[in-house]
Amino acid sequence: MPAANITSVGFIESKIASEIKVNSQAIVTKSMQELSFQLITTDSVYLPECAERNISIKILRLDKLHPLVSGNKFFKLRFYLEEAQHQGKKTIITFGGPFSNHIIATAAACNMNGFKSIGIIRGERPKNFSHTLQQASFLGMELVFISREEYRRKIVPEELLTHDCYVVNEGGSGHIGAMGAATIAQYFLSSTFTHICCAVGTGTMMAGLMNACPDSSIIGVSVLKNNLEIDEAIRLLLEDKNRMFSTIHDYHFGGYAKYQPRLIDFMNQFFQETGIPSDFVYTGKLLYAVMDLIKKNYFPSGSRLLVIHSGGLQGNLSLAKGTLIF
Ligand SMILES: *Cc1c(COP(=O)(O)O)cnc(C)c1O
Repeated sequence: MPAANITSVGFIESKIASEIKVNSQAIVTKSMQELSFQLITTDSVYLPECAERNISIKILRLDKLHPLVSGNKFFKLRFYLEEAQHQGKKTIITFGGPFSNHIIATAAACNMNGFKSIGIIRGERPKNFSHTLQQASFLGMELVFISREEYRRKIVPEELLTHDCYVVNEGGSGHIGAMGAATIAQYFLSSTFTHICCAVGTGTMMAGLMNACPDSSIIGVSVLKNNLEIDEAIRLLLEDKNRMFSTIHDYHFGGYAKYQPRLIDFMNQFFQETGIPSDFVYTGKLLYAVMDLIKKNYFPSGSRLLVIHSGGLQGNLSLAKGTLIF
């Protein structure tokens, strides 16, 4: 169990630092940058909609941690990797789609920590790899493509399952992922906020944040269409099964990884006004939701919001050039 190591997260961080020095000679790429924990800040944003209603917003910039092992994915992975290390496993196997933040984060984190990595990718092997798959493969991840139907069953092909494999759930979901996500709370003082807002895919990050902040009011914005079972999935990961929380389902923009021009316009405008970039799959929808809820007076006057910028910016590379101004 990783429990023994929960407070000593040092091993991965210090290992990463030493691996980098070795690796940087062989491969020179931005993906080999160290994880920059010192760059994680809470940035205040000043917008007229907030000032008018006496609402303050701070944004936790997990996106600045690393260009590829971005945001919440490192936090969700960290104890899986520690457990794999403790069990003496050498290979990490995980699942994802061709644009998955989790796939690229896993590839980069394994590269940094001396694990072999295998990504089981949804769908046929494409003629042209997405940026995500190119980078993952460049980082040494072996990519195995399986049909969508097989993928749905999440079965690791038998020939890949050797004794030294450690399987991480798609998206780093699950209890160990939530324990990792709980360590995000080291970067803010929860008592200074009335609401903590985050994007919800599998809900693992939201559950981790709730476990770490038992007295906070946490709001999750679902990025999937009508994923109403998500509350149950989140509750399974909660320490306090009776905990109240809200998931909001009105800002999926058509579904997972779907978008509309008004989302892109918003992301560009938000960047112009604040200097903060967002991604169109998660944090763009989250920020859109928060600003829209503010305009609809969802938050009482005097609210102090913390919005979790969970990263994912690499996903924007799948958009046509010029779509975003950042
Ligand atoms: C994966 C991801 C999320 C969602 O995290 P869950 O724990 O699956 O809910 C949010 N933001 C970004 C940028 C992500 O990559």
